[in-house]
Amino acid sequence: MRLTKPFLLLRLGSCRLESFSPVPAEKLPVPHILLTWNGLGGMLGAAFPMVVSTSSIVTSGPGASVSKPSSLRTGRVFDIKRFSTHDGPGIRSTAFLTGCPLRCAWCHNPEAFVLHGLDDGANVREFTADGLVRELERDLAYFDRSGGGVTLSGGEPLSQAAFVLEVLRKCRERELHAALDTCGLVDTGNLASAARLARLVLYDLKLMDPARHAEWTGADNRRILDNLRMLDESPAEVWIRLPLIPGANDDDRNLDAVMELLDGTRFRRISILPYHRIAAAKYQRLGLPNRMEGVEPPSPDRIEEIRARFAAAGFDPHIGR
Ligand code: SF4
Repeated sequence: MRLTKPFLLLRLGSCRLESFSPVPAEKLPVPHILLTWNGLGGMLGAAFPMVVSTSSIVTSGPGASVSKPSSLRTGRVFDIKRFSTHDGPGIRSTAFLTGCPLRCAWCHNPEAFVLHGLDDGANVREFTADGLVRELERDLAYFDRSGGGVTLSGGEPLSQAAFVLEVLRKCRERELHAALDTCGLVDTGNLASAARLARLVLYDLKLMDPARHAEWTGADNRRILDNLRMLDESPAEVWIRLPLIPGANDDDRNLDAVMELLDGTRFRRISILPYHRIAAAKYQRLGLPNRMEGVEPPSPDRIEEIRARFAAAGFDPHIGR
C-alpha cells in the first residue's frame, strides 16, 4: 500500500477539507489532512461540531479509497490495555482509538495513524459507546480500590470526537473516572467539551519551536499551544506529558522553553516519558520508514537529571507515568 500527499483545501457547503501542515507532503509517511465539518447544511454541526481525521485517504495502491469516518455512535479501537498504571491515577483500562493528525517520528502506535488502522485494520474493533464502556468497566473492582478508571488514548481520541464525547458522557453518568490522552492538535470546541466531561486530561507537549515541531511531528504547534492556554483557563485537571526523545526534544533549549511555557500556567504535574524502541518491529511490519532507527533510549542519568531540573523549577515530575 502506498500512501501519498495531497495538500489542499476543499469546501463543499459547510464541509471543509484542509491541509494544515507546513511540512512538504512528500516528507510525510501518509497524507496529513483534517476533514473539518460543521454540519450537513449546518444542521448537524450545530449539535456536533467535530474534527474527523481523514489522514486515511489513500490515493494509490491496493485498497485506495477514502475511509468513511465512524458514525456518531460507533468508534474504532485498535487495542485495549488492562491494569495500566501509566495513563492516569490508579489502575486503569486504556482504550486506544485509531486516527491521529500528527506523525511523530517516535510514535509507538503507527498502526493508529489512520481511522481504519494500518495493517489492513487487523486489530481494529468497532464499538458503540455503551459497548466500549461496558468492556472497559470490567475491572471496576480494581478501579475502585486503586482510585483508577478508564483512559481514552490513541492515536488521537478526538479524531473520533462525537464518539469520544459520548463515551465520556456515559462514564460521567456511571461515576467512572475517565481520562483523555490528547496530542492537542484538535478542534478547540471538542477539546473544551471533552475536558468538561473527563476527570483528567493528559496533554502532550513535545517541542516548543514551531518549525522543529513540524519537522518531527508533521505539524507546527500553534493550535496545540492555543488549546493548552484554553485548558489553563478552564477548571480541567491536566497532567502534562513530555515524551523524552534523544536528538529530537531532549536538549536544554527545548526543556527550558517547556518550563518557561508551563511556568505561565497553573499546570505543575508532568509525566516524563522516556523514548524506548518497542515499536521498531511495527514500522518494519507496516513498511513505514523508521526515523528513529539506531536511536538509543536516554540514559537513566540523563532522565534523572531532567527530572531534577523540573523538580527544582517547582514542578511535580514523574517518570513514565
Ligand atoms: S500524537 Fe501520539 S499517536 Fe499521534 S503520531 Fe504522535 S505519538 Fe503517535
